[in-house]
Amino acid sequence: MKISDILAKGRPSVSFEIFPPKRDMPFDGIRDTVSRLAQQKPAFMSVTYGASGNACANTVEVASFVQECGISALAHLTCLTSSRDRIADEIKALRSASVENILCLRGDMPKDSTEPPPGFFRHAVDLVHALRPSGFCLGGACYPERHPDCAHMEEDIAYLRDKVDAGLDFLTTQMFFDNNVYFRYLAKLRDRGVTVPVIAGIMPVTNGRQIERICRLSGTSLPNRFKSIVDRYGDTPQAMLDAGVAYATEQIVDLFANGANAVHVYTMNRPEVAERIMRNLRGILDD
Ligand code: FAD
Repeated sequence: MKISDILAKGRPSVSFEIFPPKRDMPFDGIRDTVSRLAQQKPAFMSVTYGASGNACANTVEVASFVQECGISALAHLTCLTSSRDRIADEIKALRSASVENILCLRGDMPKDSTEPPPGFFRHAVDLVHALRPSGFCLGGACYPERHPDCAHMEEDIAYLRDKVDAGLDFLTTQMFFDNNVYFRYLAKLRDRGVTVPVIAGIMPVTNGRQIERICRLSGTSLPNRFKSIVDRYGDTPQAMLDAGVAYATEQIVDLFANGANAVHVYTMNRPEVAERIMRNLRGILDD
């Protein structure tokens, strides 16, 4: 099913993100993870494509398995490190697997390069232009606290608007830990003429030390309330898990209560975390 059709229902929905195993790694673990996550009946599941400029692997295979589990898949696709031929091959494979949704991304440059090879796409907008005639439902990424490569929020939003106008059906946000950041950003997008649905990206934090580094790199701010939790429980895995699930649940409830209908949970391939969050939301999602 196309994500645009899922979102058009206008009901609160929760979707999950997973990452595939590295090339040549066994597939059994991810099958178990996907099967367990599918039992939670997410609106859809997205499958990442490489990261930090590393070679990608297995996205189509995992997205195909998501579909076999009866859940609509969203396959991520990055263009900065993928040749046009490779992109064409991925599209063909996704079509054969009946995947209908693609998240169009630039990706990041590998550490040892500064320029994409000649002929490669430079920005996500180029990929959107190329894929628009394909008939896939297309999504893109957006950044409530600005993308770190862009010096000014207004400029970042202007580029985002170009990307949406090129043919995006929806956006998914970078993680944020303060819902006011999301609501202020959403108001700004609407004011600047970006009208597509904006799915809120929520990261349940279960590893306190790791998150500080991730947030520094991605430019995500940590509210004081959240910092206190990490300071207090960051070194105690079980306590941090409990606190991370509670914080994410509270964020999601507040988003739904204030009119956001779609939330995407970055599961980090931990079904037990997604299960606990979904259990907390059962009454709300059934309402
Ligand atoms: P773009 O939309 O191209 O924007 C990147 C930067 O370029 C921004 O600063 C923007 O303002 C600027 N820009 C845009 N257009 C222009 C232009 N025409 N001229 C000059 N500047 C311009 N990474 C992965 O490797 N794999 C994944 O699976 C993955 N999934 C993600 C999912 C989500 C929801 C998010 C939020 C991020 C994901 N990322 C992933 C990370 C993403 O690839 C990086 O954040 C990357 O740095 C930017 O990708 P983008 O698609 O947002 O790029």
